[in-house]
Amino acid sequence: MSASSLVAEAVWKAIESAGSVTDDQLSILHFLFGKNLERATRIVDQRGVKMIVGEPSGRSIFQVVGESRRKEEYFCFAEHYCACYSFFYDIVNRGEQLCCKHQLAARLAASLGACIEDKVSDEQLALVLSKL
Ligand SMILES: [Zn+2]
Repeated sequence: MSASSLVAEAVWKAIESAGSVTDDQLSILHFLFGKNLERATRIVDQRGVKMIVGEPSGRSIFQVVGESRRKEEYFCFAEHYCACYSFFYDIVNRGEQLCCKHQLAARLAASLGACIEDKVSDEQLALVLSKL
């Protein structure tokens, strides 16, 4: 794991336990994620992050709207995966960023308790996952 992802992890943990973001944490996040942080914040402000929770397992996946057109929606795991183009191009292929704006939005919303929760059966969740 790179130093910057360790720093990011520590900041997320602190935000999660406080349920809010301090100015210092915001500057660190901005340093790490740059413009993507602004984009992610905009998505969170639009209430664009939904957490789909399978029951009874409690497993979950995020569904995040695109920033520009509300019709776009991407399934993602905050830490490991997003179905968007940028994830494959900027993160997997070029290794230039830690994560895409959707993952960032998911992490931010989850840390702040700002996502909409959608409870489904584990079977329905499995169906969503099988289409990724
Ligand atoms: Zn993405």
